[in-house]
Amino acid sequence: MVCNKWDKIHIKNLEVFGRHGVLPEEKRLGQKFQINATLYLSTRGAGLKDDLIKTIHYGEVSRFMADFMVEHTFQLIEAAAEQMARAVLLQFPAMEQIRLEIAKPWAPIGLPLEAVSVEIKRGWHQAFIAIGSNLGDCHRLIGQGIEALRQLKDCKEVQVSEIIMTKPYGVTDQPDFLNGMAVLRTLLPPLELLDELQRIEQEAGRERLIRWGPRTLDLDLIFYDDAVIHTERLQVPHPDMQNRDFVLKPLAELAPYFFHPVLHKTAKEMLENLVDKNRNGC
Ligand code: ATP
Ligand code: MG
Ligand code: MG
Repeated sequence: MVCNKWDKIHIKNLEVFGRHGVLPEEKRLGQKFQINATLYLSTRGAGLKDDLIKTIHYGEVSRFMADFMVEHTFQLIEAAAEQMARAVLLQFPAMEQIRLEIAKPWAPIGLPLEAVSVEIKRGWHQAFIAIGSNLGDCHRLIGQGIEALRQLKDCKEVQVSEIIMTKPYGVTDQPDFLNGMAVLRTLLPPLELLDELQRIEQEAGRERLIRWGPRTLDLDLIFYDDAVIHTERLQVPHPDMQNRDFVLKPLAELAPYFFHPVLHKTAKEMLENLVDKNRNGC
């Protein structure tokens, strides 16, 4: 999914009376809040056809945000912004991203100020997840894993490759694997997505006894947009993906032209290179 960086709809200084704040008076009396939002979407279709159906109705978004601020109570405008950005993105599927600023012009700090505000930017991301199993009832476990991905909070549009049978990698003295690939769109940042993948693995009875050993379910994050992440808990793109045909085959089926942000090769090219390498025995 290519995000259109150019088209935006701005909503400026929408005023709402809400009951957010740490102090009891703020919740009891309420105060004025101002919302500024930039909605990122493609307006091309609406621009060509002059048709409201093909864009996002800014009146509906404004009403949704105003209602959200009235119907909820948060201590922090950080929490109000976080929850509202999520709710808006889930409610209006054509929106790729939102920049949201919530300002509190009457912030009770005992000093004159024009306003205090929090600004965040949130949006949809694309994640590729490799799925593997070679212990227990693999077909059922893979099916359950895919269903769990479909049920994941703040995720949508899950697509799954064909599931293939493959020979074990690394530790070869173990049963054959079933492998596949899922691609989805998510609002979760990478580490929160990893938490969810590990929770699904745990629920499938995953135990980590030996590296590359038999497993009921393995869910590895292969790509997250074109992000490059090197932390102790998470490396993305997955550092060994280019050497694994059980990752590259289903990836090339789903997204042959997805571009590796470090190796600068498409999924199809990486698969062809690996097939050549294996054929030449190196
Ligand atoms: P491999 O990652 O080589 O396929 P594995 O999948 O068998 O091996 P696991 O036991 O599932 O390895 O995970 C070991 C650790 O790898 C996890 O605790 C996790 O924090 C870390 N990890 C780092 N990068 C990733 C990634 N991209 N996807 C999933 N886990 C990752
Ligand atoms: Mg793995
Ligand atoms: Mg893993």
